[in-house]
Amino acid sequence: MIDVDVAVIGGGVVGCAVARELAGRETDGRPVAVALVEARGDVGDVTSKANTAILHTGFDAAPGSLESTMVSRGYDLLSAYAGDTGIPVEATGAVLVAWTQEELSTLPALRDKAARNGYADAVPVTSAYDHVPALGPGALGGLLIPGESIICPWTTTLAYATDALARGARLLLNHRVTSADVGADATVLSTTGGDVRTRWVVNAAGLGSDRVDAMFGHRRFTVVPRRGELLVFDKLARASVPRIVLPVPSSKGKGVLVSPTIFGNVMLGPTSEDLADRHDTSTSAEGYAFLLAKGSVIMPGLMAEEVTASYAGLRAATEHADYVVDVDPAQRYVVLGGIRSTGLTASMALAERACDLIEGSGRRLDLRPDVPAPPRMPNLGEAFPRPYERVDLIEHDPDYGTIVCFCERVTRGEIRDALRSPIPPVDLDGLRRRTRAVMGRCQGFACGAEVDALLRGEGA
Ligand SMILES: Cc1cc2nc3c(=O)[nH]c(=O)nc-3n(C[C@H](O)[C@H](O)[C@H](O)COP(=O)(O)OP(=O)(O)OC[C@H]3O[C@@H](n4cnc5c(N)ncnc54)[C@H](O)[C@@H]3O)c2cc1C
Repeated sequence: MIDVDVAVIGGGVVGCAVARELAGRETDGRPVAVALVEARGDVGDVTSKANTAILHTGFDAAPGSLESTMVSRGYDLLSAYAGDTGIPVEATGAVLVAWTQEELSTLPALRDKAARNGYADAVPVTSAYDHVPALGPGALGGLLIPGESIICPWTTTLAYATDALARGARLLLNHRVTSADVGADATVLSTTGGDVRTRWVVNAAGLGSDRVDAMFGHRRFTVVPRRGELLVFDKLARASVPRIVLPVPSSKGKGVLVSPTIFGNVMLGPTSEDLADRHDTSTSAEGYAFLLAKGSVIMPGLMAEEVTASYAGLRAATEHADYVVDVDPAQRYVVLGGIRSTGLTASMALAERACDLIEGSGRRLDLRPDVPAPPRMPNLGEAFPRPYERVDLIEHDPDYGTIVCFCERVTRGEIRDALRSPIPPVDLDGLRRRTRAVMGRCQGFACGAEVDALLRGEGA
């Protein structure tokens, strides 16, 4: 049986960040033994792969909430970590646009709110068109949020997980936790991949976090999956969206935005709809129509551009307005639940918080003096040099000059590297998240067969 100090349940962006942080600590003079226990065959394969990928400043969070603290701290931590590892980030900034007199009148309060969240850089703008000329008619004013940035969500999760492994953590894929038997000194988790014996448990199970919480006898929240559908426009649209265009947030949430993506596209969304089914990431005709109607007001010209893809993600919303983060010292158990709309940004701060909660319960977790250097991740960002355009790489290895996916300009060398990486993809979707292969305008029509053959080890 696998025996560890801490088992982290859930290999999404939050769980991977927690595993990385814990594996960088020591207890009783030795590295903390960590297992990252994930139900699926890959990390980052649920909500963490389907979001709007904005590194939030937290300007619009509820002041005083845990979410506000975690987003603001997470923003700083992830910005620095992205620099260390090569996670692509573009500091595009955002302009929040008021379309009605009522919205215009709320801007001073929003600026005050930003300041109360520790963000003092929000600036009122009289003409939003100065910042995004392609906006539709009727924009009355806005607020510039220079710190809002776009980031690659896939590389973030993979960097954390790769780093965690380099620090000695074990990755247990295809291990769905089905029950927990809490003993005096250790907990035994029954999983679909075998039992895991652990002293501490951190629950980062996202949409399943309330069910894992119930395994420890708690009934403090229920996850209601809140679906967000998005449309992705082709790269020709990118020039008309120099920064993120935000609506004035309402009681219903952050609302529909238009944003450049780190891959050089433009996205429109998300919708916000509570579902009963925790697996329903299908897109719908209603969602499509709703987004087109919104987009026609925000940026009519965008509607003439081609949509290359649509997708949906499920936020782990609960009946609580804030994250559900708590420790049960008697059961040596930490819950990180209800991480709805901001978990990508807050991930590293939540990892710190999990360690603080364990330490606060009497278990020392000192920083290890001997952690390996963070991994250098492949660049998927369109704004930074990619292998196909790097003569220095191609000179030494012609595979970086051999393009396989022409829409996204993904080379044979990058696919090979992904297949040989510490956490290799197990399917086409996993390879897409590591390389961008098949995610372009033809959606794999031209290169799908070759990419699939490479994935199956043929012709590599
Ligand atoms: C439409 C949308 C837009 C968003 N936009 C942004 C944004 O712009 N910026 C931002 O910061 N955040 C954004 N978010 C939020 C962010 O994506 C999430 O907060 C984050 O991905 C949550 O990560 P997680 O690790 O908690 O959950 P997940 O990624 O869902 O990971 C949880 C993992 O736990 C595993 N699991 C569940 N049950 C078990 C079990 N019993 N045993 C083992 N494993 C289990 C699952 O398989 C899964 O891999 C958005 C979310 C959505 C849906």
